[in-house]
Amino acid sequence: MIEQQIKTAIRDIHDFPKPGIIFKDITPILKDPELCTQINDAFLNKIGDLQIDAIAGVESRGFLFGLSLATRLGVPFIPVRKAGKLPHTVNQKVYELEYGQATIEIHTDAFNPGDRIMIHDDLLATGGTVTATSQLIQEMGGVVAGFSFVVGLSFLKGLEKISPISSNIIVLAD
Ligand code: 5GP
Repeated sequence: MIEQQIKTAIRDIHDFPKPGIIFKDITPILKDPELCTQINDAFLNKIGDLQIDAIAGVESRGFLFGLSLATRLGVPFIPVRKAGKLPHTVNQKVYELEYGQATIEIHTDAFNPGDRIMIHDDLLATGGTVTATSQLIQEMGGVVAGFSFVVGLSFLKGLEKISPISSNIIVLAD
């Protein structure tokens, strides 16, 4: 079963990037092309007949399955990047972190107003990153059609934060 395969592949890295944090390292998944295919298949299966015009992937690990998923769906991929990385004109959103602030950006011409966009990232923790992404997409005239994650850390309550934005939430393993 895909959930168990993902859990088996992921490894815990203690004290990364800071002391006291246990980081879920998804890179072993990327060494297994068959598992990567099954992950894309599982996303497609759960998306079903949900109407999606584009996938927005959050830098940087949201690019890994975000692009392959968009390609399999036959829709555009929208890179959501940290400040200063995108070369063309951008819209941006500043959001609060536990300590300090962060800024995300999307190209002004990344999608059309009214497009239904699924936000994708590798992992849902507090939900802060994808909530900021949702707000930016909505400010640009897009519709948040749902969220997809390879992993969700349920103890951090990210689902509670994002469920008011869209009830279409796909988490393959938690
Ligand atoms: P949130 O904004 O939900 O608190 O954090 C999620 C973001 O931080 C995602 O972009 C995700 O890639 C990254 N992140 C936070 N903790 C982890 C972790 O343990 N493993 C991985 N792979 N990414 C993490």
